[in-house]
Amino acid sequence: MHADTENTDGTGEAVAYDAYDDRAGGVSGPDADRAARRDEAVRAAVEQGLLGPDVPLVGLLDVTGIRESAAELRAAFEAVAAPGTAVLHAFAVKASPLVPVLRLLHEEGVGAEVASPGELALARAAGVPPERTVLDSPAKTPDELREALALGIAVNADNPQELDRLDALVKEVPGAASPLGIRVNPQVGGGSIEALSTATATSKFGVALRDEGAREWVVRAYLDRPWLTRLHTHTGSQGIALSLMARGVAEAYELAEEINRRAGRRQVDTIDIGGGLPVNFASDATSPTYAQYARLLSDTVPGLFDGRYGLVTEFGRSLLAKHGTLLTRVEYAKSAGGRPVAVTHAGVQVATRTVYAPGAWPLRIAAYDAKGRPKEGPAVVQDVAGPACFAGDLLAQGQALPLLEQGDHAAALDTGAYYFAHHYAYNSLPRPGVYGFVPDGAGGVSFAVVRRAQTVEEIVAESGGGHPDALLEGLAP
Ligand SMILES: *Cc1c(COP(=O)(O)O)cnc(C)c1O
Repeated sequence: MHADTENTDGTGEAVAYDAYDDRAGGVSGPDADRAARRDEAVRAAVEQGLLGPDVPLVGLLDVTGIRESAAELRAAFEAVAAPGTAVLHAFAVKASPLVPVLRLLHEEGVGAEVASPGELALARAAGVPPERTVLDSPAKTPDELREALALGIAVNADNPQELDRLDALVKEVPGAASPLGIRVNPQVGGGSIEALSTATATSKFGVALRDEGAREWVVRAYLDRPWLTRLHTHTGSQGIALSLMARGVAEAYELAEEINRRAGRRQVDTIDIGGGLPVNFASDATSPTYAQYARLLSDTVPGLFDGRYGLVTEFGRSLLAKHGTLLTRVEYAKSAGGRPVAVTHAGVQVATRTVYAPGAWPLRIAAYDAKGRPKEGPAVVQDVAGPACFAGDLLAQGQALPLLEQGDHAAALDTGAYYFAHHYAYNSLPRPGVYGFVPDGAGGVSFAVVRRAQTVEEIVAESGGGHPDALLEGLAP
């Protein structure tokens, strides 16, 4: 249906933007509705003064869209799993570490996958209960593990040394309710973005299953530890082909079957298939969908859904990306070497990956006028720059859109995951405010504060402002 998006979900190759239509063109139904809500929200944000000359940057989150994605995720797995199958969808908190977002998802039946003490604290602050929380990370400290077991949170051990720690802890915390498992790396290969490919031969995550002796070691680890009941794999994120993700899940399933066969019982009762559904950044089309992935999985690994296994998923980007918009004022419009350049306040601090790896992480920019209305006019090839003091601080390079002028607004689309909630403190630029929005049903838009903007006073305080003499006093000469 959306030929223009095929190359982002299949091969993950870099996307050509010359032919894209930045508004709802080419999409229909919920995708078009979402684009329309975004336009309404941008206009309302400007009208209501959420941003203006002194507040030149905000992040906007489409609450309706987030709820829709959560519902699609639930429905996709319900459609393929045997009735009564226990499925825990655990949102990868790293994709949007904002407490009200985690709370919203919790209300939508989505738990939390956490990978640090901070993420666990966010999930707890959002009210996500331990039995709906999963702890994965490659570098858990003894204290983190102990806390997780004391709380009854599921833990996936990354490696043999971590399993040693769990051996000691299960004795120390008797009666711990934590479901425990091991993360395996099926080593099925990588995608187009090396940094996000977690199932390559040498990936740092999990037990590398195809290494010599590794598979047998994993099976023995389970046979020796009746309390290991889960098996975890996560094949990667953006840039991984769906078929490769399915192959990774199939490998984990085969391993669970082997463990259970040799144990002579259903020891592994739950398979955690990770997250990683790629997101289409090239248009407003949602592609691939959860339904497509769930169908592919049920075709590739039918036994996974026949009711013998509980399931855990850990989607992040695909739940949030298309529901976020980074909106900034154009501070100056200039020209250099014949190229128009719109200088905005959105750059490396809020779009770090795009600025440092623009080929892998291109963003669509939508142009709005000074009143927040979609900007009309012929497409002009231009750069959209950020505020940071290095030449590469560009949100978009050579993108064709209506010419941005001083006082206009530029929106970086599909930035709901891994963008404005992932601040990078370059140039001591402040974290922008983040607002959730919902159409109010009367033609307007209501906003709620998700995260306040960081103040300059906070930046000073967090930068040692409370002890300026630290390096002059108290250090023995
Ligand atoms: C990052 C991560 C996820 C989420 O990946 P997305 O691409 O955001 O869906 C899930 N599980 C683990 C273990 C991860 O590291």
